[in-house]
Amino acid sequence: MTDTLRAPYASHPERSRGRRFPEPPAPTRSDYQRDRDRIVHSSAFRRLVYKTQVFLNHEGDLFRTRLTHSLEVAQLGRSVGRSLGLDEDLIETVALAHDLGHTPFGHAGQDVLNDCMQAHGGFEHNLQSLRVVDQLEQRYPQFDGLNLSFESREGILKHCSKRDAQRLEAGEPGGVAARFIVGGQPSLEAQLCNLADEVAYNAHDVDDGVRSGLVTLAQLEQVPLVKRFLDETLAEYPRLTDKRLLAETIRRMLSQQVYDIIGATRSAIEEAGIASADEARAVGPLVRFSPEMRHASTELKRFLFANLYRHPAVQDKRAGAEEVLRDLFQIYLHDPTKLPADCANSDDHPRACADYIAGMTDRYALREHERLTGKRLLG
Ligand code: MG
Repeated sequence: MTDTLRAPYASHPERSRGRRFPEPPAPTRSDYQRDRDRIVHSSAFRRLVYKTQVFLNHEGDLFRTRLTHSLEVAQLGRSVGRSLGLDEDLIETVALAHDLGHTPFGHAGQDVLNDCMQAHGGFEHNLQSLRVVDQLEQRYPQFDGLNLSFESREGILKHCSKRDAQRLEAGEPGGVAARFIVGGQPSLEAQLCNLADEVAYNAHDVDDGVRSGLVTLAQLEQVPLVKRFLDETLAEYPRLTDKRLLAETIRRMLSQQVYDIIGATRSAIEEAGIASADEARAVGPLVRFSPEMRHASTELKRFLFANLYRHPAVQDKRAGAEEVLRDLFQIYLHDPTKLPADCANSDDHPRACADYIAGMTDRYALREHERLTGKRLLG
């Protein structure tokens, strides 16, 4: 990215706070490009293709998975980021890595693993994403993890409890967890990924929700944000139905949200008089929707929560998913010989069990569960 396009408040790879293990610069790539490439080549990234977003991975080939979700977040983030003059490579890195720590079976998996780990420090998918890039990937002779730049790691750790922050801070004083103790924001690129995540899942869950038959376009008319673009589309194309009507409605909704974020964020940055990436970190969140769009997006989220995420057909799968992960955790916890050799000799055995389970794809977890218990669940 040439500096004529880069805004003064953007992150700059040459001003990076660097990597935990210093490395010579790459001859042809910036540090953030290199971080993005390391994510794409990681094994955790490849496994996202077989991990559930909302619909269980094997329920159909047409629904989003964690991988396609992450690609959509990257697309939206880069699109907004380019308009604002932010660093697109950093945006892409954070977007592609933001869900690396997710367990199999979506939120049901995260909840049960957290439950199993209560006596051993808990489990949180966002913290786990950082753990994947800092420790769990095994690809380099010199260090564990991917040794990403500070700004990439800062963006990946998007929320963190005080207790976890203090623990991280002890190992890395003034590091990526410091802002959860002393206050402050991550880079604008990271803030943007956070909002792009919300825009992406709202839109694709409407799409998957309707195409799966669990929610209908008629129901979605209760949601003003959807109704507005549905009406607009039908006014222009009165005979449009089904697939194309849904796609056009969502396309318009996405575009409007992108324009809204660009406008509202640009004004916020101007009003605050932000002239550097560090000044942006020192004030409240700047990447935002307008107040009207914030309200509209929250209403859509609420609709999806009540009508899709809590839909009996989605909830019914929870029990099976919980049983699979709970069984696996107990089996590995009590019999380390059931774990692969490189996980079996850890100083923190419960954590090694959680890491191993969290890294599984949905289908691997099901196969492993069947192999160890003889029970076939969710098949
Ligand atoms: Mg996400």
